[in-house]
Amino acid sequence: MSRNKKTILITGGAGFVGSHLCDRFFNDGFKVICVDNLITGNKANIIHLLGRPGFQFIKQNVSNGIDAPGGIDYVLHFASPASPVDYINLPIPTLKVGALGTHKALGVAKKNKATFLLASTSEVYGDPLEHPQKETYWGHVNPVGPRSVYDEAKRFAEALTMAYRRVHKINTKIIRIFNTYGPRMRIKDGRVVPNFIDQVMHNKPLTVYGDGKQTRSFCYVSDMVDGIVRLLFSNCSTPVNIGNPKEFTILELAKLITQLTGKKVGIVYKPLPVDDPKQRRPDITLAKTKLRWTPKVELKEGLSQTLRWFMENA
Ligand code: NAD
Ligand code: UDP
Repeated sequence: MSRNKKTILITGGAGFVGSHLCDRFFNDGFKVICVDNLITGNKANIIHLLGRPGFQFIKQNVSNGIDAPGGIDYVLHFASPASPVDYINLPIPTLKVGALGTHKALGVAKKNKATFLLASTSEVYGDPLEHPQKETYWGHVNPVGPRSVYDEAKRFAEALTMAYRRVHKINTKIIRIFNTYGPRMRIKDGRVVPNFIDQVMHNKPLTVYGDGKQTRSFCYVSDMVDGIVRLLFSNCSTPVNIGNPKEFTILELAKLITQLTGKKVGIVYKPLPVDDPKQRRPDITLAKTKLRWTPKVELKEGLSQTLRWFMENA
């Protein structure tokens, strides 16, 4: 292995977003160490990298510690259940990976004097009263509701990251990721895009929660990876929103997916989950001005690519 290659450690690297990051950095010539316990991830996402020189997979629960070798230049902390269904089913592992896992990942960065990037989330804004959401908004989070295991864990993770920056002078970055979709999501992970695709592929009606008028802004994974890379190499030390600012109701998303497949499966309405945010759209002025980042992939195009991938792989 060439000694002048930069080394990046990615926790959660066998998950949806993490595996695309492993690909990106591996293809850009980095030595990549992927640490994942596969709790919501899948080895299939990184199978093409396994055994290749410059790629290492460590199966480990990062909440218990990270057995990382030395010489790490960057630490990306992406380990955490991310689908509401996953984190509500895994409340304590989610709280632990946001708290203890972030502590361990920051410890690796501190020991190696590495740059650290935390994958945070739009969920830190909770069910937001400010719309669209700017990074300066402090949020509206129920601290004891079922979603709190994720929201509060990520808020703690942000606070810990900033404390390590202030106390230990680590170079840190915080990305607040808004709903991201694309190939390699688990078809059964419960998030709206894979759920609707799974249902339409099996000629079942789409399950719309509530009245379907709640909104989300969907970012295709290639745009997200581009935003993450730009943030990592930027001088932004405060949180940055990365997401697509085009906002859709869940009913609009359901219509688009049925149109793209040409199937008339219909809709079945189900109860809205507790504390489900009513609206969500990022203000991306900071990313646009500081990172020169804007998303490029329209929802229709990204959904077509995602549908194609699920048809071939699910
Ligand atoms: P994912 O569930 O596909 O990936 C998470 C990965 O982390 C999985 O491979 C899982 O096995 C691993 N993991 C979880 N706990 C672990 C632990 N204790 N030790 C080691 N590995 C562990 O989810 P994703 O959508 O790829 O999300 C990745 C990150 O991005 C998460 O931190 C999530 O909070 C953040 N994020 C994602 C979105 C999105 O829309 N995809 C939105 C906001 C934030
Ligand atoms: N949703 C839905 N039907 C589904 C899955 C989700 O109507 O089968 C809704 C959910 O209630 C939420 C939105 O879609 O309002 C996005 O949900 P997701 O689980 O993808 O992520 P969230 O943005 O809530 O974290």
